[in-house]
Amino acid sequence: MNDNQLLRYSRHILLPQIAYEGQEKLAQSHALIVGAGGLGSPTALYLGAGGVGKLTICDFDDVDLTNLQRQVIHTTQSVGTNKAVSAQQTLAAINPEITVVPIPRKSSEEEFTALAKEADVVIDCSDNFRTRYALNRICHTLKKPLVSGAAIGFEGQITVFDFRHDESPCYHCLFPDMGEEAEMRCAENGVFAPLVGMIGTTQAAEAMKLLLGLGNSLEGRLLLLDVLEMEWRTIKLKRDPKCAVCAS
Ligand SMILES: [Zn+2]
Repeated sequence: MNDNQLLRYSRHILLPQIAYEGQEKLAQSHALIVGAGGLGSPTALYLGAGGVGKLTICDFDDVDLTNLQRQVIHTTQSVGTNKAVSAQQTLAAINPEITVVPIPRKSSEEEFTALAKEADVVIDCSDNFRTRYALNRICHTLKKPLVSGAAIGFEGQITVFDFRHDESPCYHCLFPDMGEEAEMRCAENGVFAPLVGMIGTTQAAEAMKLLLGLGNSLEGRLLLLDVLEMEWRTIKLKRDPKCAVCAS
């Protein structure tokens, strides 16, 4: 690390749990962020500002005026720009020390697999079940840790599926086969702006902890947030012994 990097990351380096070695580890780390919307914005901002060396950001969508109320990585000027590219532009201004690779297209399962293979952690910031199921299958096969988040209205949830451990439950154990009709998307539903910040920032914290090997992750626990009551609840997650994805 050069002098500027030591200054930039000094408040991390001052933490004995991270220190110089931890910051170096972050610099060598690669996170795959799927979705650069409400959840992906804070996730990418904090992982980028915090010094995760490489971020691959997938989003096929363009920034729309209706996104700006909560998708804080994008600006009024970036309306019409692809979200992954817009996120890369914002991050370049915040932290030119890191590498951001935008994937500005709808990725196939093959492409997600190739991208996840290169990453140390996968963060699901998508807004649809098809992507969530695909990332779950891929991360389970590749034994990659997956940080999963969702937010709608005033409620959100976060968990970690750490597929490096054989006993980890998976997304399919939790939600076996949600039909297309169960699709709950922000496109059709309202969402409270700070909620996605709280869930996305929690995903960033979990991802950074996994990269650093710090503390206890949310593996085996689903954290539920009700912003109207401002209550966090924890539900224990168990592997479904009959799960179509992870039961061997
Ligand atoms: Zn499962």
